[in-house]
Amino acid sequence: MFITWHVGALVWKGGIMKNDVVVIGSGPSGLTAAYELSKNGLVVVVLEQDQEKVGGISRTVENKGFRFDIGGHRFFSKSKEIEDLWTELLGEDMLVRGRLSRIFYNGKFFDYPLKPMNAFVNLGPIETLMCIIDYGYAKLFPRKSSVSFEDWIVNNFGERLYRTFFKTYTEKVWGIPCNEISADWAAQRIKGLSLGSAIRNAFHPQNGGDRSGLIKTLIDKFRYPKLGPGMMWEAAAEKIQNNNGQVRMGEKVISIQHSDGLVKRVVTRFESGENIYEADHFISSMPLRSLVRNLKPAPPERVLKAAEGLKYRDFITVALIIDKSESFPDNWIYIHDPSVKVGRIQNFKNWSPYMVPNEAQTCLGLEYFCFEGDGLWNMSDNDLITLGTTELHRIGLIDKDHVADGAVVRVPKAYPVYDDYYKDNVQIIANYLKENLKNLQVVGRNGMHKYNNQDHAMMTGILAAKNIQGGSYDVWTVNSDAEYHEEVREERLVPSRFSDRQSPVGGGR
Ligand SMILES: Cc1cc2nc3c(=O)[nH]c(=O)nc-3n(C[C@H](O)[C@H](O)[C@H](O)COP(=O)(O)OP(=O)(O)OC[C@H]3O[C@@H](n4cnc5c(N)ncnc54)[C@H](O)[C@@H]3O)c2cc1C
Repeated sequence: MFITWHVGALVWKGGIMKNDVVVIGSGPSGLTAAYELSKNGLVVVVLEQDQEKVGGISRTVENKGFRFDIGGHRFFSKSKEIEDLWTELLGEDMLVRGRLSRIFYNGKFFDYPLKPMNAFVNLGPIETLMCIIDYGYAKLFPRKSSVSFEDWIVNNFGERLYRTFFKTYTEKVWGIPCNEISADWAAQRIKGLSLGSAIRNAFHPQNGGDRSGLIKTLIDKFRYPKLGPGMMWEAAAEKIQNNNGQVRMGEKVISIQHSDGLVKRVVTRFESGENIYEADHFISSMPLRSLVRNLKPAPPERVLKAAEGLKYRDFITVALIIDKSESFPDNWIYIHDPSVKVGRIQNFKNWSPYMVPNEAQTCLGLEYFCFEGDGLWNMSDNDLITLGTTELHRIGLIDKDHVADGAVVRVPKAYPVYDDYYKDNVQIIANYLKENLKNLQVVGRNGMHKYNNQDHAMMTGILAAKNIQGGSYDVWTVNSDAEYHEEVREERLVPSRFSDRQSPVGGGR
């Protein structure tokens, strides 16, 4: 006999749960899609592998009442639809915050973006003179072949400024030596800027100066939820549940079963067993590589190889509780000092005063960029907390005796890597999914292997939801500003190795 009954809006059919839509992942993309669908009366279930936290990379973690992000999350979008949705979800709990973020080097704070006068005052007269001599030398005797990021910066700024302000941080973030990163990236990112033009601009600012192209990264105000980004996604999950949807925590999707050109069901594993979910439509925000690995039956070799070719950069946050009411006024600072591994430090109290439980202490988030399985990744939590404490002390930012406690969060796949083959690899997978899993849409950052912010992830979720309700949008054409374009496919710029250029599909780092 086949048993059918209702659990909330979910229909239970003899061990199989039937919904209108299954959404994999409770990050911004998955929850936005589920919210849009549930508002319009569809029965949605969101499946999330994390035991307790929704929000994915945009979640907020708590340790002893101190809240911290996985990296600081600014809420800023050129898309009015996204800004309105944030207001709809959180209303007055969205604060407007000023931005201050500087470079910390050699015990001094340098303006970011760099301003020549501020930089030279901080460097002191002798170092400034050395930088100018170096710059003159680079102009008289430039490196002949300018193929690497290092070549490009040295030719435009001189060796000394390159070592102080460009080399260390770039290598910390990307894990690639600057003499192996393609010069294209520097040329695109730092278009039209040289030491000469920067100095001229300092004395005779042009209209808009060199800021015009940098609006998105350097805006001096942004919105931020009172209790961190996780607050936004907890509100979205609650609203989905109020609309008869379900957000099921601790359920990891381990199998996506398809036949006759359609996904038929997904299987999840949880602590004490497995569940099966059927639906008419499926939306996936799980990493594209994991999605392909879990398809049953498996796709052809070429598609598997393309998926294995997708690479990621991983990330660790060490959140230290500091026995001081103030550490520095910035939201975050960039650490250019080569003697320490920490790349960036967030000061969460300056993101929102509500992130800390008392006035007398602060919480600093030390960010380490790494690869899953490398030395940093494999360190114990205690060793990472000791490393963070020692590094803060060494650079003279915080006395080690002021560190009261710490917590560690490891974030696999924080950054989808754009190497020279990722586009081909993603295209192969997208073509296969389009042909063979017609009722599955992929959305979001790792879901589409797109190195973008929440607004992009959310817009892909909105359009996927609209498609299920009769729309006809190509979700792949949403650009990094969360704008939908029929044709344009604009990518965020990231560095790639110039030596990788010759490798075949599926290759790369
Ligand atoms: C250091 C850092 C700083 C950032 N700063 C900003 C910022 O300032 N502003 C901004 O807007 N954005 C920022 N971002 C980007 C932002 O975090 C992402 O764009 C956003 O979280 C992407 O949402 P998503 O839903 O696509 O993916 P995710 O947030 O990755 O969510 C995916 C979800 O799917 C779940 N999942 C994965 N596999 C499975 C499975 N098999 N079964 C079930 N569940 C699964 C995951 O657990 C996760 O909850 C930052 C990112 C990083 C790493």
